[in-house]
Amino acid sequence: MDITNLTVHELQEKLESKELTITEITKAYADRIAEKENDVQAFITSLTEEAIKQAEEIEEKVKNGELTSNFAGIPIGIKDNICTKGVKTTCGSKILGNFVSPYDATVIEKFNKEGLINLGKTNMDEFAMGSSTETSAFQKTKNPWNLNTVPGGSSGGSAAAVAANLVPWALGSDTGGSIRQPASFCGVVGLKPTYGLVSRSGLVAYASSLDQIGPITKDVYDCAMLLNLIAGHDEKDTTSMERPKLDYTKALKNDVKGLKIGVPKEFFGEGINEEVKAKLQEAIEKYKELGAEVEEISLDVAEYSLATYYIIAWAEASSNLGRFDGIRYGYRSEKFETLKDIYVNSRSEGFGPEVKRRILLGTYALSSGYYDAYYKKAQQARTLVTNEFDKAFAKYDVILTPTSPTVAFEFGEKSDNPLEMYLADICTVSVNIAGLPGISIPCGVDSKGMPIGMQLIGNKFAEETILNAAYTYEQATKFRENYKPEFKK
Ligand code: GLN
Repeated sequence: MDITNLTVHELQEKLESKELTITEITKAYADRIAEKENDVQAFITSLTEEAIKQAEEIEEKVKNGELTSNFAGIPIGIKDNICTKGVKTTCGSKILGNFVSPYDATVIEKFNKEGLINLGKTNMDEFAMGSSTETSAFQKTKNPWNLNTVPGGSSGGSAAAVAANLVPWALGSDTGGSIRQPASFCGVVGLKPTYGLVSRSGLVAYASSLDQIGPITKDVYDCAMLLNLIAGHDEKDTTSMERPKLDYTKALKNDVKGLKIGVPKEFFGEGINEEVKAKLQEAIEKYKELGAEVEEISLDVAEYSLATYYIIAWAEASSNLGRFDGIRYGYRSEKFETLKDIYVNSRSEGFGPEVKRRILLGTYALSSGYYDAYYKKAQQARTLVTNEFDKAFAKYDVILTPTSPTVAFEFGEKSDNPLEMYLADICTVSVNIAGLPGISIPCGVDSKGMPIGMQLIGNKFAEETILNAAYTYEQATKFRENYKPEFKK
């Protein structure tokens, strides 16, 4: 049995039937990581030794009835901007290179209660700023489908780890596409929940009004289960919402008859790769075959959402990253005489170029004299984007778009041209601007065998609708059975 190729729901079945033990599962992952991590470099901090010890303890607790959760002993990978007590949380940055959080993020506390096992902290673009994981201060994560290409970003480590079977599932964070776009590049499933569904407490902030933690998984069923585990109000995050507790797996009906899907023509225009368009077209035909009502619509958000996103996200980032000053957290420059030197030199040496660019431009957009022209305008445009979506959701249940305009690109292809890199987010950012849920699922591969992702966007808190739509398509097309990453060199 190839243990690491199993989904979490399959692992649960094997544990239930006693075909596998918790320790066997964790050891299988430790072996897989030992075999493949050199190629993929998905982890900033690998915890395989600790994980095996923990597996033995959890196994004991399950035996004596102390732990009854059916997630006890299931391993997971955690993006390195989610705080884990006693384990480094670096955000892919030199400035937090040695930072050990004194507390667990709320989502991690939830995992601890269930007995999940943290296999490691995954690589990411520095402070989640990027679309390729190349801005990490530590290493370049490779896309398991072709090691010369990027895994996407910023949750590239999590997506690559899931695709390469280094973890059965993982957490990412998504501010403008950072779960969905790497999921698309790596041929896995990624969900960005509705803003406020999942607590952000313990997620290191990039842009607080856009950030959400979410699942990256092998299939839609696992995605629904992981959402079950992390969703819910938290008094430590005042933007988290009080909602009835749902079991998202119950929404997976394998039926889309009568489902109204809108396909916005603006997301299929110039700049979207022809092979991506063709695969999406096939997916649309498949939905029709399955009984959904699919119509072309106009959704006038694509044009300004990128500009809106980059102003709001950077303005918020410039404020959020003010706390990294060489005094309270992490890295401190050795070169200083005055207090100001500590601030300036620690930040100059600790942050990478992409983060600096964003702090500078975000500060500029917020400065008096430019505030009205940029930040205020962007907030107004944000309302327009939200209204456009509201109009669409008055008529349609789901909006279907590509996740990314292209498949995974090569290392260095866009890293010298920030504007090119920002365009990689054109299909995803509007979802964060409007606070909506969006899921990316694989819908085939291009002529070079690289995965293509489809994005399904839902109305606020309509995760059940998009999960069911994704599940129904997945059951009808069986991507995982037909395609596997080949670790091409
Ligand atoms: N790529 C986008 C950015 O660089 C989105 C990042 C994210 O979602 N964290 O800001």
